Amino acid sequence: MEKKDCIFCKIVKKQIPCEMLYEDDKVMVFKDISPQAPVHVVIIPKEHIDDLNCLNQESSELIGHIFLVAKKIAMTLGIADSGYRIVSNCGEQGGQSVQHVHFHLLGGRMLQWPPG
Ligand code: 5GP
Ligand code: ZN
Repeated sequence: MEKKDCIFCKIVKKQIPCEMLYEDDKVMVFKDISPQAPVHVVIIPKEHIDDLNCLNQESSELIGHIFLVAKKIAMTLGIADSGYRIVSNCGEQGGQSVQHVHFHLLGGRMLQWPPG
């Protein structure tokens, strides 16, 4: 289930502290340690999944749940109306630095497109 030496698994197990905003049996939401926008939180499944390439049909409920949680957090943090972005980086060229699938929720400023 969990992966040894995975920083996000350690956050799930509360071995590494974080500023947590939300938790349920499936997911955790916490502030990114290096925020790229006034609102920058990370939504992760509690279960270790390396990256988006590892998702399968059985993951669909979890991924749907993550997006509904993201929407609720966006409302709670007051960016639902102004707008926000949900990003999941995959692999080297996608810019993934933590090998535990996660979704960035960014908002609170005008975001550029396309991303760099
Ligand atoms: P990635 O680069 O894989 O798309 O996103 C990983 C994110 O996790 C980065 O935005 C990085 O700042 C964040 N991060 C890495 N380590 C920690 C940590 O120990 N605590 C928190 N809260 N965020 C982290
Ligand atoms: Zn992990």
